[in-house]
Amino acid sequence: MKADTHGAAQRNQPPDRYVYDFADGKATMADLLGGKGANLAEMTRLGLPVPPGFTVTTEACRHYLKTGRLPSGLDAQIARHLALLEETTGRRLGDVDDPLLVSVRSGAKFSMPGMMETVLNIGVCDATVAGLAKRYGDERFAWDCYRRLVQMYGRTVLGVPAEEFERALIQAKVRKGLAADAPDTALDADALRALTRHFQRIVRESSGQEVPQIPREQLGGAVRAVFESWDGKRARIYRRREGIPDDLGTAVTVMTMVFGNLGADSGTGVGFTRDPATGAPGVYGDYLSDAEGEDVVSGVRNTLTLEQFGTLDPDAYRELRRHMATLEEHYRDLCDIEFTVERGKLWMLQTRVGKRTAAAAFRIAANLLADGRIDEDEALSRVTGEQLAQLMFPCFAPSGGAVAPIAKGIAASPGAAVGRAVFSSADAVARAAAGEHVILIRRETNPDDLPGMIAASGVLTGRGGKTSHAAVVARGMGRTCVCGVESLEIDEQNGTATVTRGASAGTVISAGDLISIDGTDGSVYDTEIPVVSSPVVEYFEGHGSQTGDPVVAAVARLLQIADRRARLGVRANADTPADAARARRFGAHGIGLARTEHMFLGDRRPIVERLILADTQQDRANALSRLLELQRADFTGLLAAMDGLPVTVRLLDPPLHEFLPDLTELSVEIAVADATHQPVEPSRRELLAAVRRWHEQNPMLGLRGVRLGLVVPGLYAMQVRALAEAIVARRGDGGAPLAHIMIPLVAEAHELELARAEAKRVLHEVDPGLVVSVGVMIELPRAALTARRVAEYAEFFSFGTNDLTQTTWGMSRDDAEGAFFPAYLEHGVFSASPFGTIDPDGVGTLVRAAVKRGRWTRPDLEIGVCGEHGGDPASIHFFHQAGVDYVSCSPFRVPVARLEAGRASVLADRAAAGAGAVGSDTR
Ligand code: PEP
Ligand code: MG
Repeated sequence: MKADTHGAAQRNQPPDRYVYDFADGKATMADLLGGKGANLAEMTRLGLPVPPGFTVTTEACRHYLKTGRLPSGLDAQIARHLALLEETTGRRLGDVDDPLLVSVRSGAKFSMPGMMETVLNIGVCDATVAGLAKRYGDERFAWDCYRRLVQMYGRTVLGVPAEEFERALIQAKVRKGLAADAPDTALDADALRALTRHFQRIVRESSGQEVPQIPREQLGGAVRAVFESWDGKRARIYRRREGIPDDLGTAVTVMTMVFGNLGADSGTGVGFTRDPATGAPGVYGDYLSDAEGEDVVSGVRNTLTLEQFGTLDPDAYRELRRHMATLEEHYRDLCDIEFTVERGKLWMLQTRVGKRTAAAAFRIAANLLADGRIDEDEALSRVTGEQLAQLMFPCFAPSGGAVAPIAKGIAASPGAAVGRAVFSSADAVARAAAGEHVILIRRETNPDDLPGMIAASGVLTGRGGKTSHAAVVARGMGRTCVCGVESLEIDEQNGTATVTRGASAGTVISAGDLISIDGTDGSVYDTEIPVVSSPVVEYFEGHGSQTGDPVVAAVARLLQIADRRARLGVRANADTPADAARARRFGAHGIGLARTEHMFLGDRRPIVERLILADTQQDRANALSRLLELQRADFTGLLAAMDGLPVTVRLLDPPLHEFLPDLTELSVEIAVADATHQPVEPSRRELLAAVRRWHEQNPMLGLRGVRLGLVVPGLYAMQVRALAEAIVARRGDGGAPLAHIMIPLVAEAHELELARAEAKRVLHEVDPGLVVSVGVMIELPRAALTARRVAEYAEFFSFGTNDLTQTTWGMSRDDAEGAFFPAYLEHGVFSASPFGTIDPDGVGTLVRAAVKRGRWTRPDLEIGVCGEHGGDPASIHFFHQAGVDYVSCSPFRVPVARLEAGRASVLADRAAAGAGAVGSDTR
């Protein structure tokens, strides 16, 4: 009875909707329809010529991946939408006279170019191939469709290795007396029929299965394969690298096939509404006549530019330009598109907000802002700190023509890369793991090369244009890339690349040779070219005027907006006047962390050694007074470089044994001397005794930070005195010093109470009128949890997130990255190292708690962050949300942090307002 009621209730519920016709969707539905499906729907709504079709949702994919079954009702929904499609097109799937053919493509929310599967020409089979030939009056074409289907279905759905088809294709050409690399278009109908049969045999022998002869089954198999490709290895690697969550799933679009492989008046192409490499206005793209979509991006044949396409087919080109302008106007951003021309008729197959280089991102955002197409907040949302970091990488020094490139290709992704030549992805990974810089050289890349592309400093290909797989993927990940170097004959098997033309003809690059590639102008050099700092860095440094450079001007403009928009301040971690001065030039508003231990190393080490070994008060006083002089000079320099801005001096932190010789080495030295009856200086034995005394099994958790200050008499007092005297001296010189004292590694409020009392006493001794605030580093969980009491003695907090992460996770910050991190990333224990990006659930909870509790005691408590996370974009957004006042990071990261601080305000305001702009994802 109960079960019946339940069943009835279920029957009354409308079934979940898993399929949307293109006419039913829109661009904002990317979560459900994937980027491709959502944008096809948007183009359909805009009235652009999109072949009709429908999209199966990401929800259906998630269901399939979770349960291994298609959701109930999906089959029926697909059948209904297919029937609609058949009605619209006037053709039926499987019709022997006039068969409908469809493509089945993946499309996740975030673009993952080439990482998942596509099957074209679903619907061609033994029963329909003749009808297809008749319908188009082209038998060759029909068999070309069929062999492509068998090849793609075999590889994608049935897992047949791609090389088997490649080999058979070469054999077919050779049998016809053609060269192995002759274009596929040279094969006639008979050859393609034979090739199709050969492909079918390969499928049968390799997989034990057949490509189904029933088109509806082909469709079902392809949809499942696309779902499964979400969990494929290369898709997972790509997601990890790009920070795309694993649980989104992919949508599947099913679209009426239009054919670019119908002869010279047909073709297929890709385009950008602006140059994706430089951001310069003007359309860019590649076109290949008599070809299907995959041929363009795979780089198997060299392509025409869009301009050349314009002379080939002026009408289609004019229409294309019109649609591209419509799209850019609509999305208010660089769009990339895929299109096909079928016997002179243009069809738009895809659009999306296009991937671009870092330089292009800044330039496009600034241009659109200047044109009034987007506002300041939107412009900030279009660029990222990581992109700015890329623009700060060095580039090749101009040689004035002294070093000539041996070859030139297409400048596909900018940057200067120097490394050893490698010819396989595996080799790239292995050599990079051994610490070498490598350049991956391939005839063309395919998605299996992804691990090698990630490992390499740069990528070089012999074939393919700006939109080839290598170019798109390299740009996406900020890797330098030169592609389509046609004058290089690349022999991957033997690991050589030979220059075939020009002045360097005959030059051979062999695996392991040092080469340089310039992704900004496409040059390839068979030597190491020196690199110089980027124009953006030169601009920050104030060397010359780079404002004529459009990228530098764009960076300057967007940083200006970011500074205005930011709530978080940005300071720098700097311990020398030179670093402090650079940080200031880069826009830091003070020093958030000066690590004084860096001032104790080098030739000062013996003095510290003397302090540690001192037997008498006098010896200790002598060592301290020598250190005092040196520290005073250090602080004076820092305060001068940051005059008028806060300088936070952190008192000595590391374990004292770091200043002493290694215990084992010293023990062995003395043992060997004793065994061989050599004399040993008494001071060496004293040193050994001291080293033993200070030795700890676990120094990171031992005598460091405030513990040191409380245990070694006079040490912190000396540092405070040096700082106080430096302040007085600076003031005497007319400066405006603004120093703060910070106590490290505090776990308990009473530790801070003692250290602070001593600091205040010394400050008062030096000058009763001196007001210097004393704050604390929150870098132990106990300090975070007891922040309410700690704040009673702290005039400010600064999170030391390096130690806080180490002690919260119980993982050594010095060792963890090497040993088990790769496995942990693989298992998904974390998606990024917690030492690189703040762990919001664990460490982040402590940060939030400490902010809240600290301000219970002192509502106006100033709070900063000075661990590595202070320069990490995702962490900066977290700190903004957590109510921190400033972040502090290394000088070179300061511009990145400024930009992200501004972006954090914009994105937080938008989230609060619940706004989501179309196409503003800059991932
Ligand atoms: C920290 O622990 O985050 C910190 C800034 O201090 P250090 O890295 O010097 O230990
Ligand atoms: Mg620390």
